[in-house]
Amino acid sequence: MDRRRILQGAAVCAAAAFLPASVRAVAASTGETDYPQASWAPASPSNYTEAERPSSRPVDLVVLHVTQATFGDTVGIFANPAKKVSAHYVVRSADGYITQCVREKDIGWHAGSWEYNTRSIGIEHEGWVDQPAYFTHTMYERSARLTAHVCERHGIPKDRAHIIGHHQVPGSDHTDPGSNWDWERFMRLVNRV
Ligand SMILES: [Zn+2]
Repeated sequence: MDRRRILQGAAVCAAAAFLPASVRAVAASTGETDYPQASWAPASPSNYTEAERPSSRPVDLVVLHVTQATFGDTVGIFANPAKKVSAHYVVRSADGYITQCVREKDIGWHAGSWEYNTRSIGIEHEGWVDQPAYFTHTMYERSARLTAHVCERHGIPKDRAHIIGHHQVPGSDHTDPGSNWDWERFMRLVNRV
């Protein structure tokens, strides 16, 4: 695909995040995403490492994050080549809407550790660690479905040894998803689907 087509696709799909569900369904069916229910709003190629996972490197972790920014700002940050940061998915607080920004075969820059980035899929949740109201039931539910889907496709055990918070990455100075994140509830939902 040539670069102009990629850029046009980015503009269309980033805009799609703000359209009604019936219209978004069209954007989600373009085949760009690894998770069929996700829309596609690609990160800048300057913000992740192209790879051929899992053939090049196994994927055995899911790393959960909280954005400390709005959903729209987060997608914009990932699309900005100056930011040098990305995650595979962003989940919106109010309705659990999911957009994918990095293909799962590629290495996102979200864990602050090259080793953990290479091994993992990163999922960002819209909100702030000290504002639990952002952690809606719908967001838990939709994110858990996404996480279960990722785990099943990559053969990742659905347990806390393999589904971790950013704070659990060795050497991390990040606290997300933070003490307000309900791990028990989330893991119950992941294992229910
Ligand atoms: Zn994080």
